Amino acid sequence: MIRSSETPRGAIGSEEPPAAKSLARRSFVTLFLLSLAVMVTAVLAATAASYSSYEREAEDYLLAQTRTCAASLEGKSAQDMVEALQALPLTDTRVTLVAADGTVLFDSAVDASTLGNHSQRAEIAQALESGQGVLLRRSQTLGRDTLYAAVSVGDKAVLRLAETRTSLASFLGRMGWQLALSLVVIFVLSLFASRLLTLMVVRPLQEIDLTRPLQNRAYAELQPLLVRVDEQRRELETQNDELQRAVTLRREFTGNVSHEMKTPLQVIGGYAELMEQGVVPPQDVPRFAGLIRRESEHMRLLIDDVLALSRLDESTGGDEPVALRQVCGRVAARLEPASSAKSLRVTLDCQDAVVMGVPSSVEQLVYNLLDNAIEYSPVAGVVSVKVRDEGDGGVVLTVRDQGPGIPDELKERVFERFFRVDSSRSRDTGGTGLGLAIVKHAAESMGGTVEVLDAPGGGACLRVWVPAAS
Ligand code: ADP
Repeated sequence: MIRSSETPRGAIGSEEPPAAKSLARRSFVTLFLLSLAVMVTAVLAATAASYSSYEREAEDYLLAQTRTCAASLEGKSAQDMVEALQALPLTDTRVTLVAADGTVLFDSAVDASTLGNHSQRAEIAQALESGQGVLLRRSQTLGRDTLYAAVSVGDKAVLRLAETRTSLASFLGRMGWQLALSLVVIFVLSLFASRLLTLMVVRPLQEIDLTRPLQNRAYAELQPLLVRVDEQRRELETQNDELQRAVTLRREFTGNVSHEMKTPLQVIGGYAELMEQGVVPPQDVPRFAGLIRRESEHMRLLIDDVLALSRLDESTGGDEPVALRQVCGRVAARLEPASSAKSLRVTLDCQDAVVMGVPSSVEQLVYNLLDNAIEYSPVAGVVSVKVRDEGDGGVVLTVRDQGPGIPDELKERVFERFFRVDSSRSRDTGGTGLGLAIVKHAAESMGGTVEVLDAPGGGACLRVWVPAAS
């Protein structure tokens, strides 16, 4: 069983990001190894090239010498040739004269009689066959790396000159300290160059200021990333602002709701207290009870509207096709008692138009518009409800009345929560100040808009535009 103290720290909810690799370290190591490898290879290649050209020169020189020497022996007898060679001044060059059958006639380094048949020595065989042969090989007689040049002297003999050569290894060995010094210089140079390059690459990255991504002059390759960071930063700022605004609005709204509820409650409490104390004469009790009922009705309406708004705030999806004509018909029927109480004529002129929305929200939208129109209409006035399918993907609903209308300067503000043009009148008529806010919210949740139009003949004209269901 694992005891709680054994649970790894930060295992729940806070996953550690995987350890990031250091770009500076990586690029430094890569650059250093790469430059070191390139420079060492270059030095070795140059050394090998100079060694091989040095070798070629030596071969050409030895062959030329051999040719000259062979030419001077041309036409002589074997005995004369040996004597001529014996008369040569002693140098580091070994001179060998081999008869056409491979017998060694003369050798400047070893007693010729002790040497075996040389016809199988590669350079001799080559000279016998083609006139000359040059070869670097290990001497069987002297046991050292030796460069041989053999040239035939007529068809009687082959003259061979030989020089002891240094192998590549000993050539390198001879260059000893120069080579070591250049390797040390290369090492130090690579170290500094890699460090410098790494700093040059990494510094602009370290200096990137993510609070102002587009101000950076880092690398062109980073531009798309910085643009994206800038976009996200701005999106975040906008979201933050929106969130702040939403929080402020909600706070204001909560304050307004409590304030709006306090008024009817105070009225109810006051009247109830008077009745409780028996101060109200019996004949006035029905009037007081009526006042209490009216205030409680107002509170019920307020609670209904607050709930409707918060449902709209929370609603996500659930849209379905809603036929506006049917909704208007139903709402007009629901409000028929109110309209006939004021002897109003409600005219419906609705085309068949279908919109996408939450049916209860669409009904609430139409209800609030018609309810206001009836409320603010003079007795015996006309309220007209129109639905038009614009044919361009939009549907327009207009509700018009013959009431006092809405002043131009308040045409925007009437959609604010709890805004009333005339608050005492609105309260008297049972208005909550939330009706048009609900209308606006519902229209916007369907992707539409709402506005107060100029009504030339007086009265108010509210126009809602919503996209038609495709
Ligand atoms: P209320 O519940 O007070 O009617 P609304 O949000 O529905 O609240 O309307 C806000 C204000 O807009 C109302 O107080 C009223 O002054 C004005 N208003 C709304 N509809 C009409 C209309 N049809 N005619 C005149 N004024 C209107």
